[in-house]
Amino acid sequence: MTRKFDGKRILVATHNAGKLDEMRQLFEPYGVEVVGAAEMGLSEPEETETTFVGNARIKARAAVLATGLPALADDSGIEVEALDDQPGVYTADWAETPAGRDFIMAMTKTHSLLEEKQAAHPRRARFRATFVLAWPDGHDEVFEGKVNGSLVWPIRGEAGHGYDPMFQPDGYDITFAEMDPAEKNRISHRADAFTKLIAGCFG
Ligand code: IMP
Repeated sequence: MTRKFDGKRILVATHNAGKLDEMRQLFEPYGVEVVGAAEMGLSEPEETETTFVGNARIKARAAVLATGLPALADDSGIEVEALDDQPGVYTADWAETPAGRDFIMAMTKTHSLLEEKQAAHPRRARFRATFVLAWPDGHDEVFEGKVNGSLVWPIRGEAGHGYDPMFQPDGYDITFAEMDPAEKNRISHRADAFTKLIAGCFG
């Protein structure tokens, strides 16, 4: 049985203002107050695990420990089939430079590796998002979302972030970065995981 959330406040373990806003809207109908990691002065723990669930759990547990509140954390990334599902949990790492994250570089690297391998087309990929909701008594619940698609080259579109300009979801002939953000937010890996979280713990 999935444990239901019956509290009044939830700590959302992210420093990303956009994600926090999204969560506030999501939880509003359930009368749950969302508290952000930054406003509680939390630092970001190191993501040392090799799976999405492992890293999401590190973030959720650290937030519970620091605040005593139930906490929700997520981890996400893109898996490329012909690259044995890389970059996966290392998606953000592939974009790391001394001057900050550079996703044009990460996408170019991804494309070059596919070319080196002469990978067949379409070049299948999926975005994954994992949520962990953790309670102070040690219990947690895990929800996994995904969206399947293909990688295109050259990259297309200006909207979104990360790998969006390279990813064309199944059933569309535009990339995530060419899509109306509201439409992307409706079909994304995060939306899929959200829906499962709500059905599981708030339904
Ligand atoms: P995190 O879960 O915020 O650590 O994100 C991991 C990385 O995955 C991000 O830096 C993005 O590059 C990538 N990523 C996750 N979701 C998306 C998405 O919806 N579009 C593009 N890139 C994404």
